[in-house]
Amino acid sequence: MTVPTPRVAVVGGGIGGLATALALRQRGVEATVYERADALREVGAGIVLWPNGTRALAALGVLGAVEARAGRAASVEILRPDGRRLVRFSTARPDAPSLCVRRPDLLAALADALGSDAVRLDHAFAHAEVRPDGVEVSFENGASARADVLVGADGLRSRVRDTLLGRVEPRYRGYTVWRGIGPAPSGWPASDACEVWGRGRRFGLFRLGDGDVYWYVCASRPAGERAADERAEARAVVAGWHAGIDEIIGATPASSVTRHDVYDRPARGRSAAGPVVVVGDAAHGMTPDLGQGGAQALEDAVGLARHLDGAADAPSALAAFARERRARTTPIVLQSRFAAWVGQLDGASASVRDVVTAATPSRLFQASFTAAY
Ligand SMILES: Cc1cc2nc3c(=O)[nH]c(=O)nc-3n(C[C@H](O)[C@H](O)[C@H](O)COP(=O)(O)OP(=O)(O)OC[C@H]3O[C@@H](n4cnc5c(N)ncnc54)[C@H](O)[C@@H]3O)c2cc1C
Repeated sequence: MTVPTPRVAVVGGGIGGLATALALRQRGVEATVYERADALREVGAGIVLWPNGTRALAALGVLGAVEARAGRAASVEILRPDGRRLVRFSTARPDAPSLCVRRPDLLAALADALGSDAVRLDHAFAHAEVRPDGVEVSFENGASARADVLVGADGLRSRVRDTLLGRVEPRYRGYTVWRGIGPAPSGWPASDACEVWGRGRRFGLFRLGDGDVYWYVCASRPAGERAADERAEARAVVAGWHAGIDEIIGATPASSVTRHDVYDRPARGRSAAGPVVVVGDAAHGMTPDLGQGGAQALEDAVGLARHLDGAADAPSALAAFARERRARTTPIVLQSRFAAWVGQLDGASASVRDVVTAATPSRLFQASFTAAY
């Protein structure tokens, strides 16, 4: 007996939604993305893709397109504010690269592979009604769609999750991040990427493929605080640090510098019920400190398509997918939160952190990275 392929409605056209629709279509499942914006957009300058993320891109058939526009991140240094090294370790893996790419380039690679016929713009999810034979999805523009499965890929403050699976409020994790893309200073840093640890503040840099770098500045601040000139604010946070840092931020167009407060999602609540499931930040929003939010969204996409492919009973397949992914992502949410706490340490505890980091052999950093990704 042949199993009819399910029709899938994917709400949200970010990394998670596009990748999910692509993975499903590659397995012959009819998947359509409904995005509330009038264009597919990514904010936040660059994104780092560690080997688990690039393995998922390879499974989706878009690694080549992303790699062609990306920089490598095969070695990482943790530095003191004056540029002296605490530790340097390799992130190179034999089977998958570590990359840094402009976010619009990643989104374009996924969207190009998916095809525009699979995406409906200006479709903000409003409501969905679960019926015995599927889901009736309504949008704020008055349109509606019938589907066998509804995937919420609508981000940290997912409306699909809130209305159909139960609300779980994201929690502010105590710091804000400025991000930008600027020209690389000559001769610094020595590695592909670095994170510079101060006191309650950090700077990070990853090389893009074309001579530019993706940078970020983190500072412990109250949620919601905003400045008239965010580039000047970011620059002030790292004033007096290694000269290359001010050079990069100063050379970044002020209008392109973004600022986001960092939240994650407590690891509780359901991720699937009946024909409804959530993926990406809607399921497991995490702090960016391990660079895993996007990678986990890509892993979700590949995993969901594998579970749904040929499944006679979609709700059971979704439940199995949600169990598998919860086991994978819950430790990463917690480890990311821990890494945020370590990175944002202040005062004497930051000094202890730095001494311990400098005394830890780099092969231990490398081994823990290799084991995780
Ligand atoms: C500062 C920072 C740095 C990061 N760095 C990294 C990194 O280096 N590496 C990494 O792997 N991850 C990183 N992440 C995490 C990564 O950006 C996210 O995990 C990833 O973008 C989540 O993708 P998503 O598709 O689940 O959600 P989103 O990117 O939030 O996409 C959700 C989409 O749904 C749409 N939408 C929302 N509501 C509706 C609605 N009602 N109807 C229709 N559409 C809707 C939105 O418009 C959007 O297009 C970082 C995050 C932050 C904050």
